[in-house]
Amino acid sequence: MKNWAGNVVYQAKTHHLPEQLTELSELLTGATPGRALGSRHSFNTIADGSAIIDTTALPEFLELNTDRTAVRVSASVTYGRLVELLAPLRLAVHNLASLPHISIAGAISTGTHGSGDRNGNLATAVAGIDILTPTGDLLSLKRGDPDFAGTVVGLGSLGVITSVVLDVEPAFSVSQRVYDGLSLTDLASNFDDVFASGYSVSAFTRWETEVEQLWVKQRVDTDAPSASSDLLSGLIEATENRHPIRLMPAEACTKQLGVAGAWSDRLPHFVMDFTPSAGDEIQSEYFVGRHDAAAAVTALSTVGDALGEALMISEVRTIAADDLWLSPCFGRDSVAFHFTWIPDAQAAARASNVVADALKAFAVRPHWGKVFDPGRLDLGSYPNVDRFLDLVNRCDPNAVLGNEWFRQVFDR
Ligand SMILES: Cc1cc2nc3c(=O)[nH]c(=O)nc-3n(C[C@H](O)[C@H](O)[C@H](O)COP(=O)(O)OP(=O)(O)OC[C@H]3O[C@@H](n4cnc5c(N)ncnc54)[C@H](O)[C@@H]3O)c2cc1C
Repeated sequence: MKNWAGNVVYQAKTHHLPEQLTELSELLTGATPGRALGSRHSFNTIADGSAIIDTTALPEFLELNTDRTAVRVSASVTYGRLVELLAPLRLAVHNLASLPHISIAGAISTGTHGSGDRNGNLATAVAGIDILTPTGDLLSLKRGDPDFAGTVVGLGSLGVITSVVLDVEPAFSVSQRVYDGLSLTDLASNFDDVFASGYSVSAFTRWETEVEQLWVKQRVDTDAPSASSDLLSGLIEATENRHPIRLMPAEACTKQLGVAGAWSDRLPHFVMDFTPSAGDEIQSEYFVGRHDAAAAVTALSTVGDALGEALMISEVRTIAADDLWLSPCFGRDSVAFHFTWIPDAQAAARASNVVADALKAFAVRPHWGKVFDPGRLDLGSYPNVDRFLDLVNRCDPNAVLGNEWFRQVFDR
């Protein structure tokens, strides 16, 4: 069995597919307990183990609280399915990643994010979490409880998340426009204005001289025209729908050209019924503090040549700070530099290391679900890493969920 991109062949000898929570509980405390697998969209071996528990056949449910501010939902459903379940309730979550195909549990476990100066990553919408641990216990925590902040971005290492409570808000509309004509120099010098121009903003570049495309998603209800409108009016607005990789067909992408639509039809770049991104690809992503944004853009501009043919496209996004221990955005408003590489593992690893080295001076943190070199990881940039490892020990005292990826990253 392979991951979505096909660059990882899972080595697990046993593959469970429980259909009921009682069955899941028996598996976790049985002879071959294993690590949870979501929709397989990670690009490294984070989800592998001696055994895998595929969560995709577990029962689906969604319950709304009485004041319509939160839903309790089965954690293995995809965001695409969550959107369908929220639609008749006219409710939304605050943000989505570039694609709706990923499971809620898999996404929050790796700190998956969209964009937006005031938008935390997807894990920040989690107000409560239920995790079945290999000790047979149900760890049921809500925001504010001791250990809660260690459980949400849990890297699959604490047990199997069976349900989450997500903050929801009334459904909202978004319009999306794409602009050409921004140089990398202007991106660095006007970084705050560029990213204040919408609810969710993405700058796509290949680190040559320009931002190839600036995608601006504005909320129809709240985004007032601001000073940054001046900046946008100096750019060239696209007159046809685009794909982030310019030569690929735009039919895989959400509607642009300023046509207002449901939050769920605009916040992701890709639509559910098509292959997102390129398909044959490998990804890496690195986070730095927002205050280092301009310097990091300049640093990456100087290594653009070294990324060479490995790079298909890069995307710059912003994410609000959070307090989740292992989140790449812990304690700092962040800028994320994403890279879609060609499907050549060695070339991707080499180029990924060039990026990590270029950003080293900025206490860089990698995306847990993408390709990075654990040898270049500075765990000192996560102040709560020891508390997290203690939590892992308590949930999984016999390390039955441990895998090679975890050993390399945490050196244990
Ligand atoms: C085309 C593409 C586009 C992407 N775009 C973005 C993006 O816009 N933003 C971004 O941040 N990332 C993005 N990613 C990365 C992706 O969001 C993460 O890799 C995410 O973890 C995928 O979720 P998954 O369900 O596939 O998880 P998997 O890869 O299946 O698993 C990831 C981790 O979650 C754990 N896990 C899964 N289910 C459970 C469970 N029920 N309980 C406990 N642990 C569990 C696994 O053990 C593993 O540790 C993209 C990936 C692809 C392929």
